[in-house]
Amino acid sequence: MMKNINVKTGSRTEFINITSGIQEIVDESGVKNGVCYIYVPHTTAAVTINEGADPSVVTDIVSTLNKLIPLRYNYLHMEGNSDAHIKTSLVGSSETVIIEGGKLLLGTWQAIFFCEFDGARHRRVTVKIIGG
Ligand code: ZN
Repeated sequence: MMKNINVKTGSRTEFINITSGIQEIVDESGVKNGVCYIYVPHTTAAVTINEGADPSVVTDIVSTLNKLIPLRYNYLHMEGNSDAHIKTSLVGSSETVIIEGGKLLLGTWQAIFFCEFDGARHRRVTVKIIGG
């Protein structure tokens, strides 16, 4: 089973917790044990798994990425969003989560985040569920 989640981002750089939306797709699939692939088909947006309990963690990740990879630098890419492309490659376009007993097998503090690096935009996340 494969499904898309639509994500509407509200600022240029932003992490959005999409864990519940992905769990809904797992629920819909009826798969009790298997694998969930989460894929972001964009060149300036990514997906990551990190702490969802304390929102300061995500704020710190965003501010550190912005410090390491500034918006303005002598980049060659004419579109003016090279920082977003670089952040996307560093963070990555996919995650894999094991499904156990119909639930995403995440650690207590883990959440799945959609990572916007060149918003605000309408984005898509593709989720593929494989049982077995
Ligand atoms: Zn570009």
